[in-house]
Amino acid sequence: MYLTITITHRPATDLGYLLHKSPFKVQTFTQSFGKAHVFYSEATKERCSAVLLLDIDPIGLVRRGGKSDFALEQYVNDRPYVASSFLAVALGDIFRSAVAGRSKDRQELADTPIALEVTVGVLPCRGGEGFLRRLFEPLGYELELERLVLDSQYPAWGEGPYFKVCIRRTCLLRDFLTHLYVLIPVLDNDKHYWVGDDEVEKLLRHGEGWLSTHPEKEQITRRFLKNRGNLARDALARLSESDAEDEPFSIAGNLKIDRERLLEERISLNETRLRKVAEIIEKSDAASVIDLGCGEGKLLSGLMKIKQLKSVVGMDVSIRSLEIAKERLNFDRLPPIQQEKLKLIHGSLMYRDSRLSGFDIATVIEVIEHLDFPRFKSFERVLFEFARPKTIVMTTPNVEYNVKFENLKPGEFRHTDHRFEWTRAEFEAWSNERAKKYGYAVEFHPVGEADSAIGAPTQLGLFTRLEAA
Ligand code: SAH
Repeated sequence: MYLTITITHRPATDLGYLLHKSPFKVQTFTQSFGKAHVFYSEATKERCSAVLLLDIDPIGLVRRGGKSDFALEQYVNDRPYVASSFLAVALGDIFRSAVAGRSKDRQELADTPIALEVTVGVLPCRGGEGFLRRLFEPLGYELELERLVLDSQYPAWGEGPYFKVCIRRTCLLRDFLTHLYVLIPVLDNDKHYWVGDDEVEKLLRHGEGWLSTHPEKEQITRRFLKNRGNLARDALARLSESDAEDEPFSIAGNLKIDRERLLEERISLNETRLRKVAEIIEKSDAASVIDLGCGEGKLLSGLMKIKQLKSVVGMDVSIRSLEIAKERLNFDRLPPIQQEKLKLIHGSLMYRDSRLSGFDIATVIEVIEHLDFPRFKSFERVLFEFARPKTIVMTTPNVEYNVKFENLKPGEFRHTDHRFEWTRAEFEAWSNERAKKYGYAVEFHPVGEADSAIGAPTQLGLFTRLEAA
């Protein structure tokens, strides 16, 4: 059973400093269940992968284990081969400093969101793919899954409850490891150690800042505590107390304060932006609009008021955001005609999806800066080649304007989930190139009060499909 952590932030070998494990040797750690080895399968400046390999001793486990609450009753089981609470315990122990967010020699990097990729060789998943996605996606992760067959020599046995999983997100390493520490045992049936009161403390400590707003917090709590009803009730009660403190809710789920919202609120940028987009749509003769990365549905609620629109669709990768959008738009209480006009769909801009095509206008408002730049090629094709709306309205922050935000340190982005923020020249160059390649014309508009030197806080690209193309 193995787990791999990969970074491409340069120099990627800094991963060694973040994990406090040298990339240049193999280290072995004795654990209660056997041995854990840490080594690097790749260690270059461009890409570095640390592997945590568990060598579980099933016989020793049975010998040591008691009867009643010990998960292993038999000698033949999946424990040595799957990610389970053993892996969570080994993560927490061997990468203790990284889980706590500390790095002796690279503290600044430990405090910086970086593109991270974790692969788990065999992840058992009670609840299936849907549940797996509902655990990770609301936290902003992207998942690539491969369902494993029970035995490739006997395909007739079919698929097991196991997945090979690749999980990606740009965030603090600490947050990623903490989420894995909690969610891996949640996916698995067994817990190899006694679940007592201190497990509640452990869950609350590691769940701080994200669990109370997670849409699956009940399931996570119950399963982490292995369905011990009284412990789960206690933990859930304490989580709802902390709920109130966690406002405002952030999309990424693990931030106590949505910095972007606070910064931009002062200049009512969000409203100005949405008004501007709605105006463009109102002036057009569009009958259908899809809002890609609709978030909590603020634009959608404006669009619902535009009479000429017959179809308004919101799409987002975060189920939690879609649920909030549904509430905000009062979906269940809308008159039938309005209900027919509005649709909320779960999807990703990284994958070709026929539901996204055939629209007059697609809006992509403050979304591109949340996408991993290395995967931009997929996004670009999904939007310009496959969805191919007549018009695209796209907005993104103008990074030049950031100097005006007093609370933002130099070099800091407006939101910790932003993977990049562009200057006007960068956005315009990218847009012009895509327009040319995919047969669109593009023009640019400032949004918000513009400064003569540094421009406006938001930049808007308006793409129009060239009919001949
Ligand atoms: N357009 C909204 C929300 C912007 S926040 C507004 O202006 O208020 C960015 C949104 O993009 C989030 O809701 C996030 O869940 C969504 N998002 C991020 N990656 C995505 C992807 N690959 N596919 C679709 N939506 C994505």
